[in-house]
Amino acid sequence: TGRIEGKVALVTGAASGLGDAIVRRFAAEGAAVVLADIDADNGQALAKEMGPNAAFVVLDVTMEDQWISAFEEIDARHGRLDVLVNCAGITTYGSVEEVTLDAFRHELDVDLLGPFLGCKHAVPLMRRTGGSVINIASMASIRAEHYLVAYNAAKAGVTHMTKSVALHYAKAGTGIRCNSVHPGVIHTPILDKVLAQAEDPDALYAEWLALHPVGRIGKPEEVAALCLYLASDESAFATGAEFVLDGGSSL
Ligand code: NAD
Repeated sequence: TGRIEGKVALVTGAASGLGDAIVRRFAAEGAAVVLADIDADNGQALAKEMGPNAAFVVLDVTMEDQWISAFEEIDARHGRLDVLVNCAGITTYGSVEEVTLDAFRHELDVDLLGPFLGCKHAVPLMRRTGGSVINIASMASIRAEHYLVAYNAAKAGVTHMTKSVALHYAKAGTGIRCNSVHPGVIHTPILDKVLAQAEDPDALYAEWLALHPVGRIGKPEEVAALCLYLASDESAFATGAEFVLDGGSSL
C-alpha cells in the first residue's frame, strides 16, 4: 500500500470493468481518485462505496466542455493532477462492409478523440507536478481482429498519438509521461456486449481462448496492477512505450 500516496488521478470509464478495478487499486495505494463516466448510477455507487478518497464526475469523453469542467473541479479541490487514465471505451463489432459510417465515427469519437481531449486538457494541470497519462489501447492495435475494423483503427490511432504526446513532453522537460497499455481479452462486461453482437458467441469465445497461449483470458486486477506501476514514480523512465499484457496473444 501507499505506492501512489498523495497523488491525484482521474480515470475515465471508471464505472465498469477495467476502470472499476483501476480506481479501486489506486485508492488502496493512497491516491485521491476521480471516477469519470457517462454511467452516473454505477459510478456514483462505486465512489460512495470507496469512501472519502473517491469522487464521481459525469464525463462524456467526447464532450470538450465536460473535460474542462472536470479538470476545473480537480484544480479547485486538489490543486494538482498526477495521473490520467483514458480507459473509457466502446467496441464496435463488424467488418468494413458491416460497420456504418455513423458507428465508425462514434467509435473514433469515444476511443480516439476522447483520449485526445483528455491529454489536451490534463497537460496544463500536470505541468505543475509532472504526471503520467495512461491510454488503455488494446492488443487489437498491434494485431488486427478481422471483426473489429473500427476498433482496430481507433486503438491503433491512440497508440501512435501516445508516442507523439510522450515525445513532445519528454523534450519539453515537463516530467509528463504518456504510455499505452495493450490488454489481451480481459473478463469484463465489454465481452458480453461483443458476444451479444456475434453471430456465433460460443465460437467467438473459443477463438478468444485459443488466442492466448497461456490458455486463459485476463483479469481486470492484472491490468490495474500494470496501471499502478505506470501511475507511480517507479516507472519514471517509461514514456511513449507500449505495455503489452496479453497472455502471449500477440506473439
Ligand atoms: P466496460 O464496457 O466494462 O467499461 C467501459 C466503461 O466506459 C463503461 O463504464 C462505460 O459507461 C464507459 N463509457 C463508454 N462510453 C463513454 C463515454 N463516451 N464517456 C465516458 N465513459 C464512457 O469495458 P472494459 O472492458 O472495462 O474496457 C475498458 C477499456 O479497456 C476500453 O477502452 C477497452 O477498449 C479496453 N480493452 C478492454 C479489453 C477487454 O477484453 N475487456 C481488452 C483490451 C482493451
